[in-house]
Amino acid sequence: MKRYSLFFVVVAAVLICAARAYAITPEKSEFKKLADDVYAYIGKVNDANAMVIVTSQGVVLIDTGNNQPETRNILKNIQAVTKQPVRYVIITQNHGDHVGGTPLFSPPATVIVHERVAKDWSGMKPYKVNTWRKRFPERTEALKDFHPLDAAMTFTDRMTLRLGGKILELIYIDDTYNPGDIAVWLPQDGVMHAGFVGYRERHPDIRPDYSHGTTWGMLKQLEALIPLKPKVVVPAHGPLGDVKDLQAMVDYLLIARQRVRAMMDKGMSLEAMRKEFHMNEYKEWDRTAHLPVMGAAIYRELRGEGPEITPVVEKKVSGKITQVREEGRYLTIVTDSGQTLALRTAGNSDIEGIPDRSHFKVGMKLTATYEEQKEWNEALEVKVEK
Ligand SMILES: [Zn+2]
Repeated sequence: MKRYSLFFVVVAAVLICAARAYAITPEKSEFKKLADDVYAYIGKVNDANAMVIVTSQGVVLIDTGNNQPETRNILKNIQAVTKQPVRYVIITQNHGDHVGGTPLFSPPATVIVHERVAKDWSGMKPYKVNTWRKRFPERTEALKDFHPLDAAMTFTDRMTLRLGGKILELIYIDDTYNPGDIAVWLPQDGVMHAGFVGYRERHPDIRPDYSHGTTWGMLKQLEALIPLKPKVVVPAHGPLGDVKDLQAMVDYLLIARQRVRAMMDKGMSLEAMRKEFHMNEYKEWDRTAHLPVMGAAIYRELRGEGPEITPVVEKKVSGKITQVREEGRYLTIVTDSGQTLALRTAGNSDIEGIPDRSHFKVGMKLTATYEEQKEWNEALEVKVEK
């Protein structure tokens, strides 16, 4: 009997590995040539991707790496193929794992963002500007008194960047809830960085707060990108794809919306729907954990509701770390008053006393400012006592 169950464990493990390997990038990041002077930086294990265009007039970098070590690794890879400096940084998505490496290059590089992203940055809280300046210690001097918008160029609809013979078309497709996501198209090479909508075999993390836009917005973007027929698509995360993967995402989104619509027609409650919503046609896709959240987001969209707004409550705490998970992303602490508190640190959390979040250790004493949230508490500032 024991042997029998062991057999099933092994078979299940092999099946899980096979299914997961399908849409997950290798353990080590890759710098891959896509066309003449065009490279993809493919993040390890689905970390954020980046793209590099080398020209006689400087380098263009699209997105900036999942975290500081990744950003430095991107720079090393650029320097291995050219002596040209990075002149432009283009941001496809205003999330830390795409934007966070910008201060390694800018200034002097010019950062190009959509106007909606610039609007968001103009309201950046002082602690965020501080982490921006401190993110790369070797850049502290260059970033003294620097605001992220001090070397920025913005656009609202389309923009063409011509540099050293290369043409880059920046494409924004407007809808009420697009947070400023863009695609970058290289017509000469048939290569596209499609950003968030470019996922290949990965469930998108569309959330009820619309922080990644909506499924409707994704469909609008895909409708504009597919006719360009890209031969190579660099997604925000995960393996490279092509125009077929963009079409596959359209089919996926239509099925997802149809499924939620059918559940609503039956009068199902949001809670029941979150539980029953599935995308079983796509069992081999990565990140099934996104499904209940996406189901809830589509429910809002189909009812014509705006983004879910959770009031932000900032609190201060001091205590001691009792558990560290996922390289410091999740901390459990016991507060000085004896309560247990879960904290999540983000790439833009302002962390003092240690080089970065991967250095958190059980037993460390800290003080933190955090945003109280439903599922986790988001750490804004963390000071570790020496
Ligand atoms: Zn990302």
